[in-house]
Amino acid sequence: MSSPVIDVDYEQPTAKAGAVCDTRHAWARVPAEPSPDQRVALKERIRRLLRERNAVMVSHFYVHPDLQDLAEETGGIVSDSLEMARFGRDHAATTLVVSGVRFMGETSKILSPEKRVLMPDLDANCSLDLGCPVDEFSAFCDEHPDRTVVVYANTSAAVKARADWLVTSSCALDVVSALHAQGRKILWGPDRHLGDYIQRQTGADMVSWNGACIVHDEFKALELELLIKEHPSAKVLVHPESPADVIALAHAVGSTSAILNAAQRMDAKEFIVATDTGMLHKLRTLNPGKTFIEAPTAGNGGTCKSCAHCPWMAMNGLAELANALETGAGEIHVDPTLGLRARLPIDRMLAFTAGLKNGQAPGSLVAGIGAA
Ligand code: SF4
Repeated sequence: MSSPVIDVDYEQPTAKAGAVCDTRHAWARVPAEPSPDQRVALKERIRRLLRERNAVMVSHFYVHPDLQDLAEETGGIVSDSLEMARFGRDHAATTLVVSGVRFMGETSKILSPEKRVLMPDLDANCSLDLGCPVDEFSAFCDEHPDRTVVVYANTSAAVKARADWLVTSSCALDVVSALHAQGRKILWGPDRHLGDYIQRQTGADMVSWNGACIVHDEFKALELELLIKEHPSAKVLVHPESPADVIALAHAVGSTSAILNAAQRMDAKEFIVATDTGMLHKLRTLNPGKTFIEAPTAGNGGTCKSCAHCPWMAMNGLAELANALETGAGEIHVDPTLGLRARLPIDRMLAFTAGLKNGQAPGSLVAGIGAA
């Protein structure tokens, strides 16, 4: 990938000086597991509140299995962030309860400004979002006025408002391929591993922000090779936020939805999975005859972050969700003017993916949009 690359150190803002783990603050807020009786009572309370508040649950694959199961049982959805955005926009409910991290709630609010968007914990964040402050990112964009700005969904509303295109990991390759075919040069942000992967796949001229997902960044190629030797017939499924040497060992690379599809499609009994362990719930539920093994994150260079589960996703709990519905706590607000500007790249992405589904040529879907 062509340079320059901007280096942004990730630091949990509230971590105390000398803290070994910069996600300690988030882990400290992970709710205690309810007892079986409490779980039943909480689920019943949430079902009732969803009806009373005309609300629907929108949950990500990485949150607690309780929040995934309950979303589906009550007519909501469990999905990747692209489908979460689409589902929330199109659903008739007047309140969306988003279990995930903050940028997901913001995206829902931007797409549905007339709806109330609640989250179990507003402090559930994302290292990609935190590592891409809008002022610095805007300055980076200003240095490259000839480039089309493509940002990942894992960003603040303000960063989205600075972008020409928004992408998720399920459509990033298609969008950048189409832009590249139109002769566009790309400014990419914020995930460096996903950006590198897309650049290798498309050959596009890209400069990139230097952010990373603290979960996927921890997968280790050397340890993964050893695990593959122990399970020689296993297929390796990797999310492209992982380092390049981990991606190089994959049989399938893709978004959470692509990983789900690959596991169902591939004729194998065992799979090694390099993505957040929250994903294993859905993989195991949909594929009862297959075995799913976590890809290794420990080993050389392993730290207290190396557990393959997002501390911010883990902050979502049944009690917090019930409280949000009951009291209106955890409501997402996005400045309406900012929201209008941030909506442009999101709408482009949704129109692009809908057009692709309908068989339209990718080039016709990106023509005339973006810088240069
Ligand atoms: S898993 Fe990574 S990309 Fe997803 S919310 Fe957590 S830190 Fe962000």
